[in-house]
Amino acid sequence: MLEQPYEYVARELVEPDWRRLPGFADVTDEQWRSAQWQRVNCVKNLRQLRGVYGELLDESFYADVEADQAGRATMSLLLPPQMLNTMVPAEVPSTAAMLADPVRRYMLPVASDRLPGAAASHPYAARDSLHEHEMWAVEGLTHRYPTKVLAELLSTCPQYCGHCTRMDLVGNSTPAVPKLKFELKPVDRQTAMLDYLRRTPGVRDVVVSGGDVANLPFKNLEAFVAGLLEIESVRDIRLASKALMGLPQHWLQDDVVAGMGRLGTTARERGVSLAVHTHVNSAQSVTPLVAEAAQAMLAAGVRDVRNQGVLLEGVNATAGQLLDLCFALQDGASITPYYFYMCDMIPSAEHWRVSLAQAQTLQHDIMGYLPGFATPRIVCDVPYVGKRWVHQVAEYDRERGISYWTKNYRTGIERTDEAALDRRYTYYDPISTLPESGRAWWAERDSDPVAAEARAAGSRAASVADLPA
Ligand code: SF4
Repeated sequence: MLEQPYEYVARELVEPDWRRLPGFADVTDEQWRSAQWQRVNCVKNLRQLRGVYGELLDESFYADVEADQAGRATMSLLLPPQMLNTMVPAEVPSTAAMLADPVRRYMLPVASDRLPGAAASHPYAARDSLHEHEMWAVEGLTHRYPTKVLAELLSTCPQYCGHCTRMDLVGNSTPAVPKLKFELKPVDRQTAMLDYLRRTPGVRDVVVSGGDVANLPFKNLEAFVAGLLEIESVRDIRLASKALMGLPQHWLQDDVVAGMGRLGTTARERGVSLAVHTHVNSAQSVTPLVAEAAQAMLAAGVRDVRNQGVLLEGVNATAGQLLDLCFALQDGASITPYYFYMCDMIPSAEHWRVSLAQAQTLQHDIMGYLPGFATPRIVCDVPYVGKRWVHQVAEYDRERGISYWTKNYRTGIERTDEAALDRRYTYYDPISTLPESGRAWWAERDSDPVAAEARAAGSRAASVADLPA
């Protein structure tokens, strides 16, 4: 056998034994498989975290979590037992193992992970860094691309990820981030979305998201998707749920499987592609229960289950980690690896973000191992542009970590903007990844995150005017 940079080994999925955690020592198989039990026993605060790990973890770890929640955290704690159980999956967790664990690193952030002081945030980091709110055609419906929309049906999830790109809106307020609130009632918002889609036949593709659709009562989700299926121009519907991995028990409930079966049948009869999109960032999160949930969706008539992960330093930012994850998804769980997004430029995320150059190297290094259709594209979601493959960059100043991007369509707010297609849009590498000369260049500029956030509020100007020479 030829020696290769990545050695493929078929691995069997394993459900970690939750009884190794003191708080779950007496939990039965039946309880574990219950979505309700999982929801009731989510960890939402320090007291509950101690209840799970007790003295396995040092006081310093709990203090580290507490300091992060009180200081920089943009998302509050919310961890289903299923998700906790995938941290340090093969042994009784110690403090050191927890600190090093990739799932812990993005789902249970600690203050000591973040970069210190102003370095924690890029000067151009912003809440709603993708400007989705500005592109709402009606409340919660982002019309950014010519033929597709994002429908944010709700602002909660069964689990909260530390790096959530929708930190502006999703989840409970934290000391650092008071959240925006939807103004319309859910039913009115959904009605407004369906009305917009009926009168906008150029939209053929609807991503139904949030938040996470697993937090909608299923009958409400079914009613909305059934409404979409009645609109002749809608040809693709994708339901976004990280809970397929974080709380697979939800998608295995009898009523949910039966309801997905009804939607799958109608979609097939009408020639519409109904898919589920999930969000898995680490191979160890792919367990037999996750595979069972994905396969239940496929059996219910969903055309595909796809993964959209986020590229995160310390979690999956090596070719080996990405390939291990893709093979776990593809071989073991019938989930198609689809995208890895570069982590968006939200506040306090610099320790997670990687440079464009690193993302390009990773894309290069994962090519050729997976089937073409299951080889994920690594994409940069460029503000005011949208997803671009990392090699599509038009120009790249590696010293200052500024990449320049173009686009070939107008977003919903640029109908009358003559220059939209000629403009170049910017994205920024983490300053900590730059050579010394690049770091010095940034250090000479105002890097006060508060001032930067105010500046980023008008970040169209920041995008087009670029930086002082
Ligand atoms: S599941 Fe998605 S929307 Fe919810 S917190 Fe995680 S990244 Fe954000």
